[in-house]
Amino acid sequence: MKNTPIRYAIRPADPAAHLFEVSCRVDRPDPAGQRFALPAWIPGSYLIRDFARHIVAIKAEAGGKPVTLQKTDKHTWQAEALPAKQALTVTCTVYAWDLSVRGAHLDRTHGFFNGTSVFLRVLGQEEAPCQVDILPPLGKDYAGWRVATALEPVRGEKGKGGAAKAHGFGRYAAANYDELIDHPVEMGTFTLTTFKACGIPHEVAITGRHDCDLKRLTADLKKICEWQIRFFGEPAPMKKYVFLVTAVGDGYGGLEHRASTALLCSRDDLPYAGMDGVPERYRTFLGLCSHEYFHTWNVKRIKPAAFVRYDLDRENHTTLLWAFEGFTSYYDDLALLRTGVITQKDWLELAAKNLDAVLRGPGRLTQSLAESSFDAWSKYYRPDENTPNAVVSYYAKGALVALALDLTLRAGTQGKRSGHVSLDDVMRTLWQRHGQTGIGVDDGTIRTIAEELSGLKLKRFFAEAVHGTADLPLAKLLKPFGIALVRDAGAKAPSLGVKTGSDGNEVRLTTVYRGSAAEAAGLSAGDVLVALDGLRITPTTLDRQLARRRPGDTVSIHAFRRDELLCCKLRLDPPSIDSSKLIPDGKPNPLRSQWLGKGKA
Ligand SMILES: [Zn+2]
Repeated sequence: MKNTPIRYAIRPADPAAHLFEVSCRVDRPDPAGQRFALPAWIPGSYLIRDFARHIVAIKAEAGGKPVTLQKTDKHTWQAEALPAKQALTVTCTVYAWDLSVRGAHLDRTHGFFNGTSVFLRVLGQEEAPCQVDILPPLGKDYAGWRVATALEPVRGEKGKGGAAKAHGFGRYAAANYDELIDHPVEMGTFTLTTFKACGIPHEVAITGRHDCDLKRLTADLKKICEWQIRFFGEPAPMKKYVFLVTAVGDGYGGLEHRASTALLCSRDDLPYAGMDGVPERYRTFLGLCSHEYFHTWNVKRIKPAAFVRYDLDRENHTTLLWAFEGFTSYYDDLALLRTGVITQKDWLELAAKNLDAVLRGPGRLTQSLAESSFDAWSKYYRPDENTPNAVVSYYAKGALVALALDLTLRAGTQGKRSGHVSLDDVMRTLWQRHGQTGIGVDDGTIRTIAEELSGLKLKRFFAEAVHGTADLPLAKLLKPFGIALVRDAGAKAPSLGVKTGSDGNEVRLTTVYRGSAAEAAGLSAGDVLVALDGLRITPTTLDRQLARRRPGDTVSIHAFRRDELLCCKLRLDPPSIDSSKLIPDGKPNPLRSQWLGKGKA
């Protein structure tokens, strides 16, 4: 039996009320009563979000007559059984007011959606091809709206909606449901710019007010995209790629897809005409673009076994996010260095900053990377005041493991007859064996490939780095590369051992670090600091007060817990860790230049 397509239509029915109307027509519904469900989560963002909570109305009809729908759980509906050969259409109204890369958003200025927020899954027909009519909002106010997406327009077909022209409303298609929900869609009056990377058309659609220097942006992105395509090997795995950028006053986020990415940034992160060099904000934005683009291979195609078929109803646990998010975090900035967008000095600063971020969290001594990956759903994605004490980031420490493994492979195979091996070779082999074939990556895959290519024994490396909680021996690993890891305590002020947030003139503790001076003194997250040695603490005075004291000094602290005043003695900690430096020795070093290029140090 040939699969008949599932036909969807989506229309911004009421932009002012943030409502999309979405229909789903099934030509051959399950005779026992077709079931429909909306995903509980969106691949790439490991948190149960229950998108069905934004369905405000749902109804079904067949042959012009209403059909009863019974809701069977939080996101599943079952239609009544129908006579054979009757098509069934379910229509729902979806509230869209989540301006993030993970949800759906609609107002009079634009619409954005992920398929996971709007398209019902037809249970049992997930492999059927999908068509979707993307329809414009009604009214002349919206005459200038167009569409940006990596979904493929259906060409040369007449019918309702009609074939979509480039960036037009109309009919688009996906091979199956999995693909349908992997192409977010932006509609509105976005700025559009295009470039080619290794012959592949790339688009950048920017929504929101901005003054982006498009020429500069596309020139830099082109370099990064071409480097990555060549890194894994031509041809690129996608026919077209789209950067969907939403620029706001203050925001940061990205989500990867197979042929596009949705990005949220601050408009000040974008380059402007006449900008000098690569300011930090723009570097961060390019790093984000590079990160999501690298995922086109590493997680969208090279996948942990648990993601080969997503279970969209519940958490999909894998112990491997350190390899997919951490390794991607390692290569995102490395791509900026290797394309010359940033210097070797910039890159070493970024790597040191990442090291500090890991070292600052006592959670690294409690949770392994494999555990952090597995529990992403309930821990990393649900942070609270204790997260720094209990959780290690599989992004930040995963990137350190990538660095450590890269250094281990490079140093261990230097001058060997079998040839010089690096993490780059491991990534390419992962791509050939798992990305191109669709075979999932298991817990031991990366070690097996790294050992096979290098001839090194890496059992201990992986046991310690991925399943252990001890700090990685980076200083030792960096030595053969002529790079010293220096901790510069300098003249820095002592520390309370806390993370603070400020609200107006108030200093509130957001985290009390495990084993810190503040913990020993009895302070807790949520406490509001009032005075140090009898002098009022404000966000501006706290650092100045601490700067005049030495580690080991005892101070008296007044604080409010709820509305009760507490007084305690606190013995100050050494300065907090935020001062690692990676310093090249300035001598020629073939290992280092093979790794980071000859670039100015
Ligand atoms: Zn990522």
